[in-house]
Amino acid sequence: MKHLQLNTQDGHATLTFDRQGSSANIFDADALNELLDALTQIENDPSIESLQIRSNKPRIFIAGADIHSLMAATPGELAAMIDLGHEAFQKLEDLKIPTIATIHGACLGGGYELALACDWRIASDDRCTKIGLPETKLGILPAWGGSTRLPKLIGLPKALPLILGGTVLSSSGAKIKQLIDQVVPKEHLNSVAAKLLSHGKRDPNPHSILNNIASARIIEAQARKDIMKRTRGLYPAPLKALEVACQSVHHSDKVSFRKERDAVIELASQPETARLVDIFFLSEKAKKLQIPDVTPQELNTPAVLGSGIMGAGITYWLSSHGYSVLLKDINNDALAKGMATIGAQYDKAVERHITSKTEAHQNFDRIHANADPVPLHRRDLIIEAAVENLTVKKQIFADLSARCSEDCILATNTSALPIHELAEVVTNPGRLVGLHFFNPVPRMPLVEVVRAPSTSKQTLATAIRFVQRIGKTPVVVKDSPGFLVNRILMPYLLEACRIFASGIDPVQIDKAMLDFGMPMGPLRLLDEVGLDVGCHVAETLIAAFPERMSMPPLMDAMIERGYLGRKSGKGFYLYNSKDPTPNPDALQLREKRDAPDEKIADQLAHLMSHEAARCLDEEIADSPETIDFAMVMGAGYAPFRGGPLHHADAIHMMRPDFYPTLQHRTG
Ligand code: NAD
Repeated sequence: MKHLQLNTQDGHATLTFDRQGSSANIFDADALNELLDALTQIENDPSIESLQIRSNKPRIFIAGADIHSLMAATPGELAAMIDLGHEAFQKLEDLKIPTIATIHGACLGGGYELALACDWRIASDDRCTKIGLPETKLGILPAWGGSTRLPKLIGLPKALPLILGGTVLSSSGAKIKQLIDQVVPKEHLNSVAAKLLSHGKRDPNPHSILNNIASARIIEAQARKDIMKRTRGLYPAPLKALEVACQSVHHSDKVSFRKERDAVIELASQPETARLVDIFFLSEKAKKLQIPDVTPQELNTPAVLGSGIMGAGITYWLSSHGYSVLLKDINNDALAKGMATIGAQYDKAVERHITSKTEAHQNFDRIHANADPVPLHRRDLIIEAAVENLTVKKQIFADLSARCSEDCILATNTSALPIHELAEVVTNPGRLVGLHFFNPVPRMPLVEVVRAPSTSKQTLATAIRFVQRIGKTPVVVKDSPGFLVNRILMPYLLEACRIFASGIDPVQIDKAMLDFGMPMGPLRLLDEVGLDVGCHVAETLIAAFPERMSMPPLMDAMIERGYLGRKSGKGFYLYNSKDPTPNPDALQLREKRDAPDEKIADQLAHLMSHEAARCLDEEIADSPETIDFAMVMGAGYAPFRGGPLHHADAIHMMRPDFYPTLQHRTG
C-alpha cells in the first residue's frame, strides 16, 4: 500500500496513514481504496481484536478530502467519489471489533468523518490538533457521513452549529462539545487508546428526545432563522446542510448518505462554492509563501511598542502562540489598560474553548509589561504600534535604531504612513518592514507585509515566515499610502459618510452593505474603528490621492462634537444599549431622504472595485487574486463574491455598461 500501513501485534491492528510524497494526509480515490482493502483484510482476520487508526505526519492526522480532485470532478465522478467514501467509512463502522482514532494534528472534514465511523476518538492536547467539519466554509457540506453521524453522536441541537458554522475546535473544545472522548498528552495516546479499546464497542446513544421528527422540525425552523440572520441567505451550503442533517435523524443512514451525496453535487456547481474554494486555495498558498533563494531567520524574542488597541491585540496573539513578549508603552495607565484588555481576551478564549484555563494563565505570564526604558539589544523583532503620527514614529525608530542590535527586525504596524520615510532614520534600513495587523487582531487573519524600497529580501522572507508561524495569513504589498486594504476601503467609507450626510438613514446604508455580504455596514465599521482613527488614515490617503478622495465635512463635525464611535459611546450610532441605535444628534447634522438599497450597495461596491483596479495597475500587490484575497481576509469583503475585482468582472458580464473601465481583471 502507498498511503496506509497495516501492522498487527498481539491481536491489535494499527492502521497508519502516511500519504506518500505529501506533507499532508488527504483522502482521494487511491487512499480510500487502500482503506477499503485494509478494512477487508482486518474483517477477514479473526485474530484481530481491535483497531487503532493513527497518522505518521508530524502535525496532521487527516486534513480532509483532496479538494482539487473534488472540484475538478464531473457530477458523475463526484458521485462515485462520495459513494466510495461512504462505502469505506461504513465498512469501518460495521467492523465487529472495537475501533479508535488517535488524533494528533489537523483532523478536519473527511478526517473527522473517518473518526466518526470509529467507536472511540481521542486527541492530543497539542496546539496543532484541530478538529471539526469545516465543509460549509468551502460552500459544500460534510458528505462522507458527517452530516448524518455527528447528529447521531451528540444530538441534533449540538451538532447543527458545528456543521452549519464549519467550526474548527482545539482538542479541549472538541472534548467539551463531545466530538472526542478524551484529551491526552501526545505520548499517552497509545496507552489511553488501549484502555478504551478494552471497553469493547461503544453503546450508541439514540438521543431519542431530540433526534425525532417532531423535535427536528422545531430545531430546523429555529436554525434556519439563525442562518438567515447570520448569512442573509447569501450562502446555499449551510441551508442545504441543515436540511440534510435534520432529515438524517428520521431516515436510515443509507438514505441520509444519498442525500449528502445529492446535496454536495448540487452545491459543487454553484458559483458561490467556486469563489469559496478559490479563497481556500489562496489561503493554502499564503501559508506556503516564500521568497525564492532566501532562508528566513527564525524570530523568537519579540517586543511590542504601544499598548493601545493594536499593541494589546498583537501581544495577546503572540503570547497565545508561545512567544515571550515584552510589551512597552510610555504611559503606565495605558500599559495597565493594555494588560487588562489582554486578560479579557484570554478570558474570552477560555469561555469559547479556544484554550484551557491553565494554558491561558501560562500564556498571560509570558508577557512582560514595562513603561521604563528597558534594554532591547536581546530582542530580535520589534513591532511598533504607537500612535499614527509620522513625527512620533520617526522619533521611535531613530531611538530603536540606536538601542537594538544591528540585525533586529524593526516592524511598524502603521495603517497608512509611508514606511520609506521611517527608513530615513534607521541605520541598516534593510531590516525595516511593515507588519500591518488588522483590528480586532484575534479575529482578522490577514497581515499585510509591507515591503519598503529599502526592505531586504532577507527581512521580507523573515517577516513572512514569522506571520505564518503565528498562524496569520501574509500578503506582500508595496509601500504606498494605505497599502492595499485600507486604500480600497477608504473611498467606500468616505462615500458612506457622504451618503449619510445627504440624508439617508444610517441603518439603511449599513443594511444595504450587509445584504451585499459585508460582515458589518460601513458606518458601524467607522464607529468600531473610531472616527478619529479613520480620519488619520483618510488624511494620509486624501493627501496622496486628492483628485478622487476628500474629507466629508460631516466627519470633522462629528469628531469636533466627540462622536468618535463606540469608544466614546456615540458615533453614527448610540452605544448605551445592547443593540446600537442611530445617534439622534448625528442625524441632526443632515436632511432626511430615502434611496433604494441596491443603488446604495452598487455605488459603494463600485468604489471598492475601482480602487482595487487602480491598486492592480500600480502593482500594490502581485495579482488580481492577491488583491481580492486580501480584501476578503483583511476587510471581510463578501467571500462568496470572491473580492472586489471578481465582483466587478461578474457585474461587467451581466451589465457591460455598468463598469466599462473594469473588465477581465480576474482569471
Ligand atoms: P492607540 O492610540 O490605541 O495606542 C497607541 C499607544 O501607543 C498608546 O497607549 C500610547 O501611550 C502608546 N505610545 C505612544 N508613544 C509611544 C512610544 N514612544 N513608545 C511606546 N508606546 C507609545 O493606537 P492603536 O489604535 O492601537 O494604533 C496603533 C498603531 O496601529 C497606529 O499606527 C495605527 O494606525 C495602527 N493600526 C490601528 C488599527 C485600529 O483599528 N485601531 C488597525 C490597524 C493598524
